[in-house]
Order: sequence, then structure tokens, then C-alpha cells
Amino acid sequence: MSDIIQLLPDHVANQIAAGEVVQRPASVVKELLENAIDADATSIKLLIKDAGKALIQVIDNGKGMSETDARLCFERHATSKIRTAQDLFNIETKGFRGEALASIAAIAHVELKTKPAQQELGTHIKIEGTEVVSQELISTPKGTSIAVKNLFYNIPARRNFLKSNQVETRHIVDEFQRVALVHPDIEFSMYHNENEVYRLNDTNLRQRIVAILGKKTNEKLVPINEETEVLGLTGFVSKPEFSKKKRGEQFFFVNNRFIKSPYLHHAIVSAFDGLLASGFHPSYFLYLTVPTQSIDINIHPTKTEVKFDNEKILYAIIRSTVKHGLGQYNVAPALDFNRDATMDVPYDFKEKQLKSAPTVTVDRSFNPFKTEQQKDIKFPYKREKSQQWESLYVDIEAPKTTIKNIEVESELINNSLFKEEQSISKTHQIHKKYIVSAIKSGIIFINQNLAHQRILYEEYLEQITVNDTASQQLLFPLEINFNNDDILLIKEIQSDIESTGFLFDKIENESLVVKGIPIAISESQVTIVLEQLLDDIKNEIPETSFSQLDVMAKSLAKSLAIKNGSVLSKEEQEDLVERLFLCKEPNHAPNGKPTFISMEINEIDKRFGL
Ligand code: ADP
Ligand code: MG
Repeated sequence: MSDIIQLLPDHVANQIAAGEVVQRPASVVKELLENAIDADATSIKLLIKDAGKALIQVIDNGKGMSETDARLCFERHATSKIRTAQDLFNIETKGFRGEALASIAAIAHVELKTKPAQQELGTHIKIEGTEVVSQELISTPKGTSIAVKNLFYNIPARRNFLKSNQVETRHIVDEFQRVALVHPDIEFSMYHNENEVYRLNDTNLRQRIVAILGKKTNEKLVPINEETEVLGLTGFVSKPEFSKKKRGEQFFFVNNRFIKSPYLHHAIVSAFDGLLASGFHPSYFLYLTVPTQSIDINIHPTKTEVKFDNEKILYAIIRSTVKHGLGQYNVAPALDFNRDATMDVPYDFKEKQLKSAPTVTVDRSFNPFKTEQQKDIKFPYKREKSQQWESLYVDIEAPKTTIKNIEVESELINNSLFKEEQSISKTHQIHKKYIVSAIKSGIIFINQNLAHQRILYEEYLEQITVNDTASQQLLFPLEINFNNDDILLIKEIQSDIESTGFLFDKIENESLVVKGIPIAISESQVTIVLEQLLDDIKNEIPETSFSQLDVMAKSLAKSLAIKNGSVLSKEEQEDLVERLFLCKEPNHAPNGKPTFISMEINEIDKRFGL
């Protein structure tokens, strides 16, 4: 047999390596920002176009590169950061694998301009798919600018695999924040399609956190500080009463590197034991310093996972340090355990994928009781005339119901029965959350919150998709503060949000002016509804514009639905039941939970031994 093994040409090897290092535009952002920091820059600017798909550029004022280095930096395993294998155990820089630029150059059009301080002229190199297409001298400021254009231009499959601009931008902002949160002494700015997203001056850690996550963050922070032989831990955790329903603002850094460690995350969260209502998550910004020899950051190309020598000890110290910090600030008395539990309803959009865009026109003749799930519940449901749901309630009380009537189905039901006998109550509210009602086949328990969510969800979805939303103008426009990150998100999805009835005036620097709101909400609810909406959108990461509208409809429904714990009048109970059974899918709330459960009369009989 002839020999068949060959060495891969460099450009192929680089493309393969690129698959590991560069998953999406955000990976490029991370690598370029880290290189700028390793080059001792004090000011770093990030420019993005089209969520990084068209352009990612990082401009720094760091030490720059000589002409030879500028050429060499694109070679694989070309690094100035380690020299021997021994150095691997003592890494103080962000990069060290010498792979990033080679990988990026293999899959994009790259333009590098760089000049060390002591030289008069700099170097300008253009590379396309690993090939140097031009190299010349250039007059340029001290430092380095690397522009990465048309990412994955030569790997269409990867390019097509990229998510919506909104999702990719979200990832980029995440990476930017993770880097900026570690280096408050470095000035950062970020522009997306020429709009300023962040401008961060050099400052201290607390102010940096506030600059990134919004002014409101300041009052929430509890400082954490500990210095032992095995570790240093500094940073902040949120006061428990500011914990969130969604995870999100959880940042853990090890030796100035953003790290995901479920084990140590658990240590932090467990320090909050007994201080958080269930379903709530604390925010944290914690910076762990350990001897470089005691960790291995080499186990993953993106370096977000590390191996610790002494995890158990770290766990114990982190937990007790955070506990101590919380205790010192004596935040426990301020706890509020009476949060509205209905806001905790998990949002299992993922489990309940939309198979296709639902049609939203209300089908007036739809009979919900003919559906699969409900086959066994025989509601004699008739809506032609009165659009009422009384017919569900076959003469429950009427003494004339004799044995013969047991055979009776919907045809014989007389709607007027209940109109005459107002004294017979068809619904009862129990425990301020269930509406109980006898129906022909037995009894149903409707949960008022879940049922109302379903009703509102279908209404909103219809309004939004047919673009027929009513908006109430505010006499005095409201100004609401959001952090820049949220403002960016609002700008991106402004037209979608406006399709729910909100009308915005100015959207700028941490502030949003609202001049119109959906008719279903009151002025005092605006902030909470918008915050919930943004939270939900961030967490769902909707990938198509339809599912985005869907997320909004769900979010509004969740925020505005009648809460468990509210007392409902008879009319309200009946209205709720009627509207529920006019829904296209009355059986489930948008979060997938059942809106009602039923019990057959023979089941009940059985339990009585009848
Ligand atoms: P690594 O960061 O792992 O060393 P990279 O491929 O990211 O590998 O970069 C290769 C080398 O190019 C770096 O070691 C550094 O010497 C040089 N370099 C990259 N970016 C910059 C920059 N912004 N300023 C100065 N030098 C840089
Ligand atoms: Mg690097």
C-alpha cells in the first residue's frame, strides 16, 4: 500500500484551528481586546459593524509591533508571551497560545496598522485568508489597529450558522463587559454602526461596574474582601434584596480572566442561603487571585474554563468570605420575602417551541372541547347565540334534573336557565387563586393567573402581529433610566416594542423617554413592565423576529395578568372563564403550565365508593 498521510498545508491547519478559537464575532472581539491589554494599552476602542459580521476593529495605544513582528504575528504558534513549556505554569498575560491572529487571518480579511513608540513609521499589512496581499510603511499613531472584515467569508457554512444581529451583538457586549470589568484603569469605548454604546473612563472598580451596569447598580453593591495565603478575593455581591429573577449579572474572574466555574459559582450562591426567595439569583462581580502555578488555564482554547489545584479549599473560603461580607453589611433585616411569587413563573419557551407561527385571528366558532387533550371532558359548549359559557353548567342545581337528563348532551341545554336563576353561582374563588366551577362532567379548577396569562397572550399576539395596537399618549412623558446595555437593546428592537403600544421619544445615554404606553397598563407599571420585557428578551435570546414578538407578548401577559392572591368579583371570575374558553389554546398558559385541571364526576364518585 502506498503512503497516504500528508501534512496539512498551513492555511488548512489554520482554518481548522480557527474553528476552535473563533466561533462567532464575539470570539474575535475577545481575542483582539485581550491582545490590546497584553500590549499595555491604556485606551482601547472597539468598533463594530453589523454585529461584527461586516467589521470588528480594535484600536489601542499599546506598545505596537515592529515590522518583523507585524508580519510574524499572523503565523501559527507565534507569540511573544511564552518561550518555554515552563512558562505555561506562570502565565500573567491574557493570551499565550499564539493562535488567535493566525486563526482570524485564515477566515477573514484582516488589516493591521501598528507602530511602536520609538519608531517614526509604522507597518500596514493586509491579509486575506492567510495570504498577505499587501505590506507597506505607513504613518500611524503609536499602538495597533486591527480591523477584521467579512468574518467567515471563505466558510459559508459558518457564516450562515451565525445568529441574528441581535444575538451576535449580545455576545459581543458580553465579551466587552467581561474585559472592561477587569480593567477599570483602562479607558474603553465601544461603537456599533457608528453609535456610541459605551464610553468608559479610567476609574475604580466600583465606578466601572456602575458605568457598565447602570447608575442604579451603585446602591446594590456590598464589598467583599479577603486575603489569605491561598487566595485573594475582592469585588462586590448584590444585596440580597436586589437579587434577580434571572441570572445574568454574575461575573467571576480568576487572575483577571473571566471564568465559568459551576463549582465556585455554587460557593458564592450558597453564601446567600436563607437570604434569597426561591427562584432569585444574586448578582456578583468577584475577582479571585490565586498563585499562577495553582491553576491550569490551558484546558480550553477560549480559556473560560480553568482547573484549580485546591478547589475544595477555594470553595470553603469563597463561601465564608461572601457570607461574612453580607453579614458585615447587615443586610438581612432589609429582606423582603413577600415578593410576588407569580413573577417567578418559569418561562419555558424552550420546551414549548413554536412549531410554526400561530395564526392569531380569533376563531369565533372554535370549540376548545373538541381538542385532543380534552376529549374526555365533555363540555356541552355552545357559543353561537350568546357567546356565553353558561352552557358549560348544565342544570347543576335544578331539581328537575332527573335520571333521564343524564343522557342529555348539549342540544338540550337551555342557556336561559342561568339567566333566570341568578342566585345560582357558577363560579367560586378559593384561596384567592383558583376559580372552581361545576361542569357537566365534573368540576374544574382554573388558576386565575395562568388563565389570564393565556388570555392576554393571545390578545397581545393578535394586536402585535396585525399591528393594530392601541397606545395611550402620556400627558407628561416619562423618563426612565436604563443602563447602556439595555438602551442598546431597546434601540435595536424599538419597532418591535412599539408594536406592543409603547411609544418612545428620546433614547439615549442611560435614559429613555416614554410618551405612549399600551392601553392595558397604567403609568405606574411602565418601568416594571419594560424591565421585565428586556429581561425576558435577553434571556430568551429570540432568534427570529417572530419569536421576538412572541416573547414580548408572553412577557406583557406575564407582567399584567391578574395575580394569584387577588380577590375577584363574580363578574370578573365569569369574564375570565368566558375569555379563557374563547382562546385558541385554553388548556395551557404561555409558559406551558395548565390553566385548569378537571376532575370527572365518576372519579369523585369512586372516591366515595359510589
Ligand atoms: P497570543 O496573544 O496568544 O500571543 P495572538 O495570535 O493573539 O497570540 O498574537 C500574537 C502576537 O502578536 C502576540 O504575542 C503579540 O506579540 C502580538 N500582538 C498581537 N496583538 C497585538 C497588539 N494589539 N499590540 C501589540 N502586539 C500585539
Ligand atoms: Mg492573543
